Amino acid sequence: MVRIAGERIADLFALAEKEAGGSHPELASRYVALARKIGMRYNVRLLPEYRELYCRRCSVFWIEGRTVRTRLRGGRRVRTCLACGRPRRVPLHPNRVPTEEGLPAGPVARHDAAVAEVEIEGPDETDADEEGEEG
Ligand SMILES: [Zn+2]
Repeated sequence: MVRIAGERIADLFALAEKEAGGSHPELASRYVALARKIGMRYNVRLLPEYRELYCRRCSVFWIEGRTVRTRLRGGRRVRTCLACGRPRRVPLHPNRVPTEEGLPAGPVARHDAAVAEVEIEGPDETDADEEGEEG
């Protein structure tokens, strides 16, 4: 039953995505609500990629610029639902503890900027054996 519930949730989110760009975007939110209901009924978690797609208060399917506003602020990505106004804040750098102002503490750790240490070897000039032939 859990497996079927998971499939049904995936189907509903696929439908929601389709309707969101179609002629009935309000249906998308209806599909989201149904998918969440199924998840709760059968104790199935929605996949993390689905959970990014809708408002947790009013279940509206988020369409960038139409039903959700996304801003980067204070080291967090703030997505505000334009239907009910509920903000959802996702830290951009989950490993760092934010300060009181909500700004990340300390300098930004740039893992990607780590320069690989390359050992530069000098030209290996092996002295050719000088076969000195005197005379
Ligand atoms: Zn909402």
